Amino acid sequence: MGKDELVICLLGRPGSGKGTQAKLIVEKFGLAYFGSGQVLRERQQINDYTGSKLRETMAKGQLVPSFIASKLWADKMENFKQEPSLKGFVLDGSPRTLSEARLLDEALDWYQWQIDRVFLVDISGELSFNRLAKRRQCLKCGRLTPFEEQYKDIKVCDQCGGQLIARMDDKPEAVKKRLATYDIEMQPIVDFYIEQKKLIKINGEQSIKAVFQDILKNIE
Ligand SMILES: [Zn+2]
Repeated sequence: MGKDELVICLLGRPGSGKGTQAKLIVEKFGLAYFGSGQVLRERQQINDYTGSKLRETMAKGQLVPSFIASKLWADKMENFKQEPSLKGFVLDGSPRTLSEARLLDEALDWYQWQIDRVFLVDISGELSFNRLAKRRQCLKCGRLTPFEEQYKDIKVCDQCGGQLIARMDDKPEAVKKRLATYDIEMQPIVDFYIEQKKLIKINGEQSIKAVFQDILKNIE
């Protein structure tokens, strides 16, 4: 039961393009997308205590507590479990800490799934900062648009025409905080998956297409 479902996890510094890769994998294999950023953004729309506290926390670039993250995963996984046609899913943005990695294994085990592959889309801290400080988000649909080179001419979202704004959590101070947090938290997670023989490191400083080819080689 559940053994045929493919569960893939993507790790990488903010701005590594792992979200883009996640969506390419989703399309290629017909999987469901499970993005923690998306789940958190949906949750912060709700006007209650946690909704407004999440807006505050994320605007400051602080880490969302694990108990909130795991509650949201459980809700999402419960929904996935109701889908008879589910072929698997791609995790984008989780886990963020070692304790979350352990919680995630527990949650997956509960639902009789397990992670098949963990891809680390590897880019330098410098590239991460430059990419993050230079991107905008659509107010309407959430799509991200870079603010560098040829993308600077783009004034509105090319998907829905919505207004583009600098992301709250992409302001320089928040970016620096996120990157520092990333570096502290990520190494133990990487080691955790190396120990499980699931981690595959991909050079994320190539073109989107080349990164995707490297990922595909390790799935098929
Ligand atoms: Zn849009």
